[in-house]
Amino acid sequence: MRNSDLYQNMKILVMGMGKSGLSAAKLLLSLGAMVDVYDDIKKKDMDWSASPWQDMPVNIFFDYHFFDPSLHQYDLAVISPGIALDNAFVQIVMDSGVELIGEMELGTRLFEGKFIAITGTNGKSTTSSLIHHILVESGQESLLAGNIGEPLTAVVEKSTKKTIGVLEVSSYQLETIQSFHPHIALITNISNDHLARHKTMEYYCALKAKVFCNQDGRDYVILNAEDERVLHFQNLAPSQIRYFSTRKPVSGAYFQDQVLKLKKHDHTYEIVNRNELLLPGLHNVENALGAICVCDILGLSIAQIRNGIMSFHGVEHRQEIVETIAGVTWINDSKATNTDSTIMALNSYDKPIYVLLGGSPKKTDYSLLAKKIVHQGVIAIVYGQTQKEIVQALEDEGYLEYRLAKDLFHACELAKQQAQVGDIVLLSPACPSFDSFQNFEHRGQVFKEIVHAIGKREK
Ligand code: ADP
Repeated sequence: MRNSDLYQNMKILVMGMGKSGLSAAKLLLSLGAMVDVYDDIKKKDMDWSASPWQDMPVNIFFDYHFFDPSLHQYDLAVISPGIALDNAFVQIVMDSGVELIGEMELGTRLFEGKFIAITGTNGKSTTSSLIHHILVESGQESLLAGNIGEPLTAVVEKSTKKTIGVLEVSSYQLETIQSFHPHIALITNISNDHLARHKTMEYYCALKAKVFCNQDGRDYVILNAEDERVLHFQNLAPSQIRYFSTRKPVSGAYFQDQVLKLKKHDHTYEIVNRNELLLPGLHNVENALGAICVCDILGLSIAQIRNGIMSFHGVEHRQEIVETIAGVTWINDSKATNTDSTIMALNSYDKPIYVLLGGSPKKTDYSLLAKKIVHQGVIAIVYGQTQKEIVQALEDEGYLEYRLAKDLFHACELAKQQAQVGDIVLLSPACPSFDSFQNFEHRGQVFKEIVHAIGKREK
């Protein structure tokens, strides 16, 4: 870790008491800072007995109405990605003149070694995990953090000059960076998501562009050549550009004749055959192409990249095969919280599919998904708070083949009764999970338990 004496005796306000706020506060305390903490959760709703905050030497306050940040003379405020910048108290803190940075910005100020930032609407976790896997398999010191697994401030102490940080970065995290400077930035794709918070597509794209805004000619940005919004960044990036494409040869990595290839210095290298990838779907070919570009820039050999890709089994809750029961394969894609990811998942299989859809609402247009379902002849089993909305979109396409379920458990039972040998039952809900679960991981876990229970029953 570098700059470790920078925060000694500083007075710092940490905003947010979730995972990111907790690790930022712990790190700052260990570096000798004095820490106050704010969250708008109701104090009475906190379960103090189980709270990791209970023994920490910090002042916590929940009601900002009586709190004037300028009286406390903070040197810095560190905000968690879960808090929107238009939050009333954030505005007050900013107006008080204190420097406000995100938890990830804090982490990168302390990070030693170079880091890679992976952002985009979909495929971030898969691509980051794949890059990390290839690096580890090649004997490199890689640290995977950010929007996946651990927040950066929870692991930054382990970083050394030799460390390569593989950071999954969300648009929320990009909103509060300042000096954040990745050696390589990769943008997977951009589609309508998170508009409830970011309001317009223009603002969402502008946030994604922040990933390369501090780069220079020694750095690299890797762009998806098949995504118009991503491709537009080639006009803005100050760094060297590499592309990846599933459709045509580009300077970087591309897919041609069922082979993933790398083109550099007018030479083309064949990396792997599509059927050597353990992950399904063209979207995972895309993720692998992005990873190939990154690993090549980092100096790995073709053999190292090839071996890493061929031994990667994917990430939990992303098209994860749970079990095959009576000839029916059950797949957990709980991470699909938007329609694009569900369409991608449906694209990955050429067998009959029962797709389990629904969850909590967010500003979503389900019409493209409905068209896809009709076109592919998928059977949709719909449940959750978005049931009505999804059913409406399906009916608008003239589709009446849907089944209604009370909840995820009931949806699985219906699928169990109706699926035949060779079919797939796919949980790929196209919605967030908060109507019935803590998060998508919890939903995926519950789904797997239900499937295993069905499996046991059938034995
Ligand atoms: P993120 O971290 O960006 O949410 P993940 O790698 O966790 O992305 O994948 C989330 C879901 O998005 C997966 O379930 C998969 O169906 C879909 N997906 C993965 N990669 C891509 C891609 N390159 N393009 C579109 N959808 C994708």
